[in-house]
This record gives sequence, structure tokens and C-alpha cells, in this order.
Amino acid sequence: MSHIIKSVNLGSNLFKSSRIIILSAAHSSTSTQKPENEKKFKLLIVGGGTGGSAIAGTFAKMLNKDIGVIEPSADHYYQSMFTLVGGGLKTFDQTSRHTKDILNNYCSWIQDKAVTFDPSNNLVITKKGDKIKYDFLLLALGLQLNYDAVKGLQEAIDGDANVCSIYSPKYVQKVLPAVKSLKEGVALYTFPSTPVKCAGAAQKICYLSEERLFKNSLRDKVIFKYYTALPVIFPVPRYAEALDKYAEGRLIDVKKNRNLVEVRGDKKEAVFKIVGEEDKYEVVKYSLLHVAPPMSTPSELWNTPLVDQANFVSVNPDTLQHTKYKNVFALGDCTSAPTSKTAAACASQIGVVSKNLKAAIMGQELKGKYDGYTSCPLTVSSSKVILAEFGYDGKILETFPFDQRVPRYSMFLLKVHLMPIIYWKLMVKGMWHGPSFFRKLWRFGL
Ligand SMILES: Cc1cc2nc3c(=O)[nH]c(=O)nc-3n(C[C@H](O)[C@H](O)[C@H](O)COP(=O)(O)OP(=O)(O)OC[C@H]3O[C@@H](n4cnc5c(N)ncnc54)[C@H](O)[C@@H]3O)c2cc1C
Repeated sequence: MSHIIKSVNLGSNLFKSSRIIILSAAHSSTSTQKPENEKKFKLLIVGGGTGGSAIAGTFAKMLNKDIGVIEPSADHYYQSMFTLVGGGLKTFDQTSRHTKDILNNYCSWIQDKAVTFDPSNNLVITKKGDKIKYDFLLLALGLQLNYDAVKGLQEAIDGDANVCSIYSPKYVQKVLPAVKSLKEGVALYTFPSTPVKCAGAAQKICYLSEERLFKNSLRDKVIFKYYTALPVIFPVPRYAEALDKYAEGRLIDVKKNRNLVEVRGDKKEAVFKIVGEEDKYEVVKYSLLHVAPPMSTPSELWNTPLVDQANFVSVNPDTLQHTKYKNVFALGDCTSAPTSKTAAACASQIGVVSKNLKAAIMGQELKGKYDGYTSCPLTVSSSKVILAEFGYDGKILETFPFDQRVPRYSMFLLKVHLMPIIYWKLMVKGMWHGPSFFRKLWRFGL
């Protein structure tokens, strides 16, 4: 046994000494060569999802690909399609592409996680220990799904086929089979008290599931409940009114100010804290439970100098430049910009950040201004969509010259067929900045 250990040690010493020779040879050839784990980019992007890949595509030519993107995931998901997968209108395979096929044309993809942010020294350190310096930094880390923040939820969703969630690629494929197997009882849909991505998705999947039961003549055997921690069904009154009426018409029991705090998987019970009332709870028995989990920015960002008190990246809401570090910009779900977090919002932000980051690199004044544009195509059935579009302070920014509160087949076609093409062919390459051009065209005949 000791003989084996000795020979292993000998091997490892041999390896170490040969490595020293290689490193010193490299050192003598050029004294400026950086150690292997140190890198430097003109532009470093953290997060290669919707926003990060678009900015890499936008700047590839200008910066001669001197761009590094830190992104851990081998797959890039078009998350907006998860709702349609849960509703049986698209397949899971249609939601993703390989990250390498999206990023490798534009930049150096570093398949790793950023774990330390040191903006005073223009430095990011990755989980594998790479030290990456930058001239400019773009943060596009999205949101983290915190299923474990609700007592008993993680165990229930991992262990019970009838507890599901469209929000995660890990759980979205459970949704349709759970709905298909539902024959009676209570189908319960929840919405959390934290900021989330796509504030409409939790109710969209409720409408699609309800319609499926109706078509299968099982509707009168199942009670549908939508429980939200918010005091409203949707953050903008114009659409909230339309959605309250729609849900009422479909006999969906909508309860507001109900925050999911515990799932008792063994008893199939969900416990809700009644928001605004001291120590008051409601317990609901379920046959199917669909959860929109609490969300936050990724924990690697928490308590860094880059975030505000709520741990969102602190940006100027107009320019999307960091409030303290002028060579740092951010976009997408991880920012403090006070608007609803969607890919549509991200598209508009890509336009603004492209303009302002370019100006910052060239030492010019920042002229791009974000109006808070965001959009939510509310799939109220498998053939109709209410298209909500608004900006900061709930200002209505509808694109089309008709009442978008009315559920329409044309908007359904837009959501299900046109938007995926726009996403894969234009948006992830940085070539789609939202529909403001068309809005002006219809409205003013420009
Ligand atoms: C179910 C569902 C339905 C939706 N429906 C719609 C819709 O109908 N319309 C719409 O406009 N939007 C919709 N959205 C929202 C939309 O998908 C997001 O708002 C959008 O993808 C945000 O883009 P992002 O770049 O900010 O984040 P993401 O696209 O999520 O990308 C963030 C990236 O950062 C990476 N990352 C995280 N932590 C680190 C780290 N420490 N280091 C390095 N990288 C890291 C992640 O791996 C990820 O790839 C929906 C989302 C979901 C989940």
C-alpha cells in the first residue's frame, strides 16, 4: 500500500516540476504574459441569458470581440415559452438552444459563475478561481428561483407529481401531465410577494389549465383557485380590471393578499399568510398545486457594493448606468429599474444600454433614455391573448391601434408564432429593441 502511495507522490512531483519548467519558459519569452487564471476584456458581461447575449452580439464588431461573457449554463432558454409548454401548446425542446451556438460567434464564453465582484478594482472572480479584469462591465444575471424559501415546498415539488411550476426548466415538464391527470378536487395557483419575472405567467397557466379541463368536460369537478400575495391581480389597473372580469367569467376563485408560506406535502395542504393581518392564516387543500416561487437576484450579488438594499443592481432608471460605478451598466431582471421584469422590457433596455455603453466607451455624454417599457402577453386561452404594454408609473404604451384589453386571436398568433422568431433570429443577437417604432408608426402615421 505504502509503495503505491509513494509512486503516486512521485508522479505528482514529476508533474509539478514539468509544469514549473513550462511556466518559466513562458515567462522568459514575454515578461507581460498573465498567469493562466488572469484575463482581461474591454467589456465583461456577467450572465449570458436574454440581455447578456444581446449586448455581446451588439458590441462584437465594435470591440473586435474583446468581450468576455461569464455564463454557467450550457443551454439558453427562451423562458417566455415555458408557459406554452405547461399549456401543451409548445414542446420543451422548442424552448432552448446551446449557449455555445449563441455566444461563440461574438465573444469568449467563460462557462463559469461569477462569485466575487470588486468594482473598485474592475475585477470579477469566478467560482473556478479565474480573476477577470475589465474596462466596462455589464450585469445581466437575471433572477434566482427560491423554491426553498417556502417551508416544505422544495420537498413537495421534488417528490409529488401534482406539485409543479412553469418557472423552472427543471419543473416545467411536470405541469401538463399534472393537469392532464387532474379529475377532481382543487387546482391551486399561487403568486409570491417578491418581485418576479413575468408577473402574468402564474395566471396565464391557470387560464390554460382551466380551459383544458373545460374542453375535457371535467370542469364542473374541479375548483380553480388563484391566490396572490399582491392586493391586485395585475399591477396596472387598466388590465387588472379586464383580468378580474375574465377570471370571474371562468369561475376562477381569485383571492388577493394571500402569501404562500408553507406546503404540507403529506396532507396536500398549502398554508397562506393573510397579508396585512396579524397572525392570520388560511389553509387550502389541493389536488394540484402550481407555484410561482419567491425570487431574488442571484445570491452572488447580495451585499456587494453593486446592489441596493433589496439586493437589486442599483442603476439610474433612465440611463441604466450604475449609480456609483460609471463603467458599469446593467439590464434585465436583476436591475433596480422600477418596471415589470420581462424579456420585452429587456428588449427596450438593450437599445438604451447599447447606445449609452457605446457613448461611455467613446467618452461621450449618455443620451439613451429608458421609458420603463414592458409588456405581458396574457394568454387567457389557447387561442386568445390580452396584450398588456406599459412603462414607468403604469403609463400605457400600447403598440396597436385597437383596445388591447380585449382578448384577441391576432395577439395570440403574435405571442405563439412571431415572438419566438423575433427572439431567436433578432433579439439574442442584439437586433431587436422592442416595438416603439411600430407604436409611433400606427399612432402618428410617421
Ligand atoms: C415562465 C416564464 C414566462 C415568461 N413569460 C414572458 C413573456 O410572456 N414575455 C416576456 O417578455 N417575458 C417573459 N418572461 C420573462 C423573461 O424570460 C425574462 O424577463 C428575461 O429572460 C430576462 O432576461 P435577463 O437577461 O435579465 O435574465 P436571464 O435571461 O434569466 O439570464 C440571466 C443569466 O444569468 C446567468 N447567471 C446567474 N447567476 C450568474 C452568476 N453568478 N454568474 C454568471 N452568470 C449567472 C444565468 O445562468 C442566466 O443565463 C417569462 C419568464 C418565465 C420564467
